[in-house]
Amino acid sequence: MNQIAPVAPTAQPYDPRYDPLVDATPGRNRAYAPTYWVATAGTPPADDGPVDRDMDVDVAIVGSGFTGLSCALFLAREHGIRATVLEANRVAWGCSTRNGGQGQNASGRLTRTQWIARWGEDVAKSLHAEILEGFETFAALTREIDCDPQPGGHLYIAHRRRTLEKLRAQSEVDNRVFGYATRVMDADELRRDWVDEAGAAGALHEPLGIGVHPAKLAFGYLAAARAAGARVHTASPVVEVTREGAGFRLRTPGGTVRARAVAFATGGYTGQGLHPRLRSRIMPILSNSVVTRKLTADEIGALNFRTRQVITDTRTLRYYYRLLPDDRLQIGSRSAITGADAENATHLRVLTDGLAAKFPPLRGIRLDHSWWGWVDVSHDMMPRIVRPDPAAPLFYAMGYGGNGVSYSAQAGRRLAALVAGRPLPERVPIFRGELPGHPFAPFRRIGQRILYRVYQRRDERPDP
Ligand SMILES: Cc1cc2nc3c(=O)[nH]c(=O)nc-3n(C[C@H](O)[C@H](O)[C@H](O)COP(=O)(O)OP(=O)(O)OC[C@H]3O[C@@H](n4cnc5c(N)ncnc54)[C@H](O)[C@@H]3O)c2cc1C
Repeated sequence: MNQIAPVAPTAQPYDPRYDPLVDATPGRNRAYAPTYWVATAGTPPADDGPVDRDMDVDVAIVGSGFTGLSCALFLAREHGIRATVLEANRVAWGCSTRNGGQGQNASGRLTRTQWIARWGEDVAKSLHAEILEGFETFAALTREIDCDPQPGGHLYIAHRRRTLEKLRAQSEVDNRVFGYATRVMDADELRRDWVDEAGAAGALHEPLGIGVHPAKLAFGYLAAARAAGARVHTASPVVEVTREGAGFRLRTPGGTVRARAVAFATGGYTGQGLHPRLRSRIMPILSNSVVTRKLTADEIGALNFRTRQVITDTRTLRYYYRLLPDDRLQIGSRSAITGADAENATHLRVLTDGLAAKFPPLRGIRLDHSWWGWVDVSHDMMPRIVRPDPAAPLFYAMGYGGNGVSYSAQAGRRLAALVAGRPLPERVPIFRGELPGHPFAPFRRIGQRILYRVYQRRDERPDP
């Protein structure tokens, strides 16, 4: 099990301009993005190396991020099925080693109030129960795997007085409808007991939230999945999926994998040509992240940074940030629209400007790490864990919209149950139907460009 992984052919450099709407696959055996996480996670555990021959397997999982690895882990642990994971590059090469590590009690981009508006209170409550169970699945894994957890909750900072009013309304619904004990604090309490963020008007605190080192967590998922009997083949992009008999043939450069069932866990890295069921179902959105040098004790004191919990703000184009265990500050937000434009310095400036506005003593601080990645946003802002066609053993879980660190553990677990032929709770809407497509897919980015300008103007408008 712990033998040295076979060396993949021709290691490829990291491609900063990769774009899932343009490129057919995310490459083959590409280096990791230059993240703080990969730089500090240590050597990844062994994997099973590239596919080097034709093979027959029971279940093939495409993609080795949190979702694919969790699916493999729970297929083995809860259903006795030894899955084969196929990954184009390195283990957890996509979002799962690039995110902010914010494990929240959430999935998808909609708030609990928006769930009620879309589905009514009863269905919203069933979704809340599912997301909560998911948070516990994730929390249990963070206890099992050494991933530098920063528990205690999530601080949702109102960047304007007007958004504090929205947080008050949200907290009232959280408590009354869902029995979820969030609470709102004013700016004085925030500055005194949590962090002195310039311009903040107050905050909502929710009790569930764990910051993690995502690469350590993903590597832990890998080791646990293999220990339970899964195989994980890296440097093995699936370039074609075709039906064969009751199952599928998945072509990779090193050999063809025949599978009884296939589960896609390719998230924001899903190529347009991977499978017709997935085409234009995900709108990949770029997000940037940076990590500063270590802050000095004086700097931490000057900002009264008393919390290490995960933090976001109320901008539609939100910032996500936290003080890491080694006293560096991580901050991320939205980025370019296309991969070709990802290296443009204006996108990094969104982060450095945001950092300086929130924490003026840190203006100009040295950045030690900077990277970006593609978030899997669905067209109705919620994920799906489904078998879209009852006639075909094809499954997928994706569309967490920037809230996948915690829920992907449960999504992988639910995906495993589906593959094993078990029913999922009926009322939970993310287990029904399929991800909606988009009638104007090729033009979505024009709309996105316009929306970014509208959101940015609205986010930065001063209070009356
Ligand atoms: C910068 C950034 C910050 C984020 N911050 C947060 C956060 O703080 N909190 C939060 O909850 N969420 C956050 N997210 C989202 C979160 O990271 C994702 O929801 C989560 O990691 C999704 O995991 P996944 O396994 O579904 O997909 P991924 O981790 O993206 O894995 C998909 C994998 O599929 C592989 N693949 C694709 N096509 C093929 C193919 N044809 N053949 C083989 N393999 C293929 C890819 O190489 C990739 O490794 C962030 C995302 C980004 C990019």
